[in-house]
Amino acid sequence: MTTTDRPVPHPSPLTEPFWAACREGRLLVQRCDKCGAHVFTPQEFCRECHADALTWVESAGDGHVVTFTVIWRPQTPAFDVPYVVAVVRLEEGYEMVTNIVGTPPDVVTIGAPVRVRFTPVTDAITLPCFELA
Ligand SMILES: [Zn+2]
Repeated sequence: MTTTDRPVPHPSPLTEPFWAACREGRLLVQRCDKCGAHVFTPQEFCRECHADALTWVESAGDGHVVTFTVIWRPQTPAFDVPYVVAVVRLEEGYEMVTNIVGTPPDVVTIGAPVRVRFTPVTDAITLPCFELA
């Protein structure tokens, strides 16, 4: 793998299980032991019922595009343009802000089915991006 000038997430004790799983090609999400809600981004408490009993579970990584935008003028030249930033709703009911990769931006549509595709960026960070299913 490589290093990059691209800005990358900095794992915390709370988020490290998520990033460790991404490095292994698995998508984890927290599920509330009390109400069953899936919670993302990682939290100390359930957003639905405020219980502090959240357990990491594996997500299937399938979902659809809720909305997206195509970036032509990135915040840093470390990004290759154009690229797609999207909100994806996973089948478990939670949403992620992510990139749609592996396809020209002009074929991405709202509602398009997608599945997770892991993109290594550094030795520590593998991003859960999505591709059209
Ligand atoms: Zn809950």
